[in-house]
Amino acid sequence: MKVKLKNVFVIYFLVSVIGLMYALLQLGQPCDCSQHLRSASDLMHGKDKKISQLLSEVKRLQARGKDSELEGQALPVIYAITPTYARLVQKAELVRISQTFLHVKNFHWIVVEDSPVKTQLVSELLAQSGLRFTHLHTETPKEHKLKESDPNWLKPRGVEQRNLALQWLRENRELSEEGVVYFADDDNTYSLRLFDEIRSTKRVSVWPVGLVGGLRFERPLVEKGRVVGFYTAWKPNRPFPMDMAGFAIALQLLLANREAQFDMLAERGYLESSLLQSLVSIEELEPRADNCTKVLVWHTRSEKPKMKQEELLQKQGLGSDPSIEV
Ligand code: UDP
Ligand code: MN
Repeated sequence: MKVKLKNVFVIYFLVSVIGLMYALLQLGQPCDCSQHLRSASDLMHGKDKKISQLLSEVKRLQARGKDSELEGQALPVIYAITPTYARLVQKAELVRISQTFLHVKNFHWIVVEDSPVKTQLVSELLAQSGLRFTHLHTETPKEHKLKESDPNWLKPRGVEQRNLALQWLRENRELSEEGVVYFADDDNTYSLRLFDEIRSTKRVSVWPVGLVGGLRFERPLVEKGRVVGFYTAWKPNRPFPMDMAGFAIALQLLLANREAQFDMLAERGYLESSLLQSLVSIEELEPRADNCTKVLVWHTRSEKPKMKQEELLQKQGLGSDPSIEV
């Protein structure tokens, strides 16, 4: 839609003149003019308000239009796949990353709930997010799920959820579409610059991840623009010793290799490798973030909030209002 500011002013001018003429005509009539004048002036006020609303809408659309005309349409879509599960910090995590994603052009968020149903919390959050999104769900089978007492590294998390998102892409996207797929866990922290780096992925792009693997960062080592190894301390002999947050895959590569997926039974630390092995070799990796020297994503983890007071109050029947969503 092309709305010119000039046109809005012309309409504004015409409406004002017509209103004025109407008011003047009424003056000539033998009647109770004050009432007519009042209704004419009310009418004008109403129109004034409408026009200023229209003007701000025009400005908004113009700003948006410029963005998408200049680059939006030509940019490959970034598909971010986020597995998520219900816990106290879930909404806070999802709000935080969704508001980062709002700044990313041509972005499509695939959120996969680890749940037997789509929850109301996530459904409403997505509907109000302002993002283009796909909402899926699949529950991790009991035997694969981490128990409360298990250390968090015992089993891989979000595996079926990520695989379901891959399946959705294969069923709903064409090989001709340019796009990039990124696995964006809900608790990480993402710099906007990361998405500029990801966008140009031809096969698989890689970069450093901060605060991971017991190190300040892990990163691919680059020589003459090629990945020649990895800086990592933990199980360095893995085929791709990288965190999930440290790579992105071209959509076309995933669509062309329809069997490639995460291996539910992969040994600890081998989940990333289980997918990447069937897609690329180390030499083919495309280093990003200034030859993998910049940290643009952090493997942050939220502390589990303590609910001691809440539990005490609950025992007395004085727990907080459950109808207030947190
Ligand atoms: N996740 C999930 N189900 C679970 C545990 C985790 O879907 O039972 C999701 C979680 O929301 C996150 C991703 O899987 O997006 C990775 O989980 P987490 O951040 O706990 O793993 P880590 O930080 O240890 O890699
Ligand atoms: Mn995490």
